[in-house]
Formats: sequence, structure tokens, C-alpha cells
Amino acid sequence: QAKAEGRNNYQFFTRNISERAIKRFAMEGNLRRAIARDESALYYQPKIEIATGRVIGAEALLRWQLQSSEIISPAQFIPVAEESGLIIPIGEWVLRQACRQNRAWQEAGYPAMPVAVNVSAVQFRDKHFLELVSRVLQETGLDPSNLELELTESVTMQEVDTTIGLMRSIKDMGISLSIDDFGTGYSSFSYLRRLPIDTLKIDKSFVQDIATDPDGAAIVSAIISMAKILKQKVIAEGVETPAQYEFLRQQGCDQIQGYYFSEPLPAEEFEARFLREQVAGMAQAERLIGGG
Ligand code: C2E
Ligand code: MG
Ligand code: MG
Ligand code: MG
Repeated sequence: QAKAEGRNNYQFFTRNISERAIKRFAMEGNLRRAIARDESALYYQPKIEIATGRVIGAEALLRWQLQSSEIISPAQFIPVAEESGLIIPIGEWVLRQACRQNRAWQEAGYPAMPVAVNVSAVQFRDKHFLELVSRVLQETGLDPSNLELELTESVTMQEVDTTIGLMRSIKDMGISLSIDDFGTGYSSFSYLRRLPIDTLKIDKSFVQDIATDPDGAAIVSAIISMAKILKQKVIAEGVETPAQYEFLRQQGCDQIQGYYFSEPLPAEEFEARFLREQVAGMAQAERLIGGG
């Protein structure tokens, strides 16, 4: 009887795996078609400097828009894209599109507004990555000071020496670097000191715990203090409420990003609200933040 049960479990297990594999395979096929059909778009979410209430940059976030107008979240398709290697052409498209858009905004006469691009582990470890970045900057004519790359904490913790070398080369090109989802990895203080980074981004899971969990609040203030010691800027992501914002301001956090101020927006909407209508953007900042 135990044997029969074992076999059933085994069948159950394999069926589950193959269903997952089929789903993944379908997703991968869809993803390939999406690239070919140009169904992807970049959305932009503003980063706000607390001291001035000003929008001081934007993070580019990839959206996959099906013809049915359904939007698929990167949390679903980035892992598939990484496993299948599709992240390489996708990441190249994202980088080029973000740089091109930023340059176009400057040519339209708007003040500089650096753009942050997310870089996944597979992209960062690709041997052509540095070459790609410098080629895209050259092609688009974007000044490197207007580009920031976001690497997750887990990416920076693999192959430490190679990673630090790569990060130095990126910094030497004049590009800014930030550590995304900070607090979710296990980097030590001494390791962090060695990383040539400009900004720590506190992961939104801690930000969301601020008002409800004393540990969450303590972790956030510890990260802010640590960033100060290391002379790095610190930004909190996923800020949704006035209470979270107020806590971050009191703790000396430099910047915020989150639905409290704005969701990620299509390029035209970002332009309308935060570039063209500087005045409207400032009024919104004053209402929420008090204008510094
Ligand atoms: P991330 O880089 O940590 O981006 C922050 C995520 O939080 C984004 O999700 C953003 O839309 C969301 N977010 C912003 N404000 C709030 C808020 O107030 N509350 C909540 N609950 N969420 C907020 P999104 O756009 O779904 O992206 C998820 C992740 O997918 C990103 O996390 C990033 O790791 C990855 N990703 C997105 N675009 C790209 C891309 O172009 N390339 C690569 N390699 N990864 C990307
Ligand atoms: Mg990010
Ligand atoms: Mg993040
Ligand atoms: Mg995240």
C-alpha cells in the first residue's frame, strides 16, 4: 500500500512539474512574440528628494502590454526571461529606450532628470554588458551622469571581487549605482563599505512594516544610519502612507519613491505631470511634503 501511495505521490509530483513547465514554456513563447511585436513599454516612477520636495529622478519599470490591453507584471515575467536568456535582448531594449527617452526630454528643453534602470543578475554577468552600456550611451548621446543602474543586493553578493571590479568600471564611466531591495540580502557592513555605490534603496517590505511592526521601523532607521556612516544616499521604495513618509523624514531618509507620491506612469504622463507641468508637480509636492 505504501508503495502505491508512493507512486501516486510521484505521479502527482511529476504532473505538477510538467504543468509548471508548460506554463513557463507558454510564457516564454509569449514573451518572444511580445518582443517581436513591440508590446513592451517603459513606465516611469518619480523619485522625490525629501529636503526640497522636488522630483530628482525617475525609475524606468518595464510593462508588458498584451494586445488584449492586459498588463503583465515584471515580477511574473522577469524570472522566465532570466532563465530563458531572453533578459539579454529585453534588457538591451530597456536600456536603450530609457536612455533615448531621457535624451529626448533634454532636447525638448526640460532640466536633467536622471533615469534609473534595473539590471538583473544575468545581464550584469553577461560579458558584453559594459560594452553594451557604453555603446548605448554613445548612440543616444546621453550624458552618463543622467544614468543610474540599480543592482539588487543579492546580485552584488555573488563573486565579490569580479562584482566590485565591474561596479568600479561602471562608476568610472560616470554612471551612478544603487543597491535595490536593500535589507533582503545578507551583506555585511564590512562588505558594503567596499562597494562603490551612491545610493541604498530600502526594500519596500521594511517600509510597509514601519507603522505596524516595531522591528520594521527599527530596521529602517538602522539602514538609514548605516547609509549615513558610509556616506551613501538612502531612498525608501514603496512609500504609500503619510505615516510612513513622516517616519522616513524624521529619520533623515534622503529620498522617497512610492504610490504616496505617484505610481509608475507611461512616458507621456510622466512628462505631462513632472516635466512639462513643473508647477503642478511642485504644488503636489507641497501638498504632500510641505515644500521643504
Ligand atoms: P524594483 O526595482 O524593486 O521596483 C519596485 C517595484 O515596486 C515596482 O514593481 C514598482 O511598480 C513597485 N512599487 C512602486 N511604488 C510602490 C508602492 O508604493 N507600493 C507597492 N506595493 N509597490 C510599489 P514592478 O514595476 O512590478 O517591478 C517589479 C520588479 O521587477 C522590480 O522591482 C525589478 O526588480 C523588476 N523589473 C522591473 N522592470 C525591470 C526591467 O526593466 N529590467 C529588469 N531586469 N528588471 C525589472
Ligand atoms: Mg528598482
Ligand atoms: Mg526595489
Ligand atoms: Mg523589489
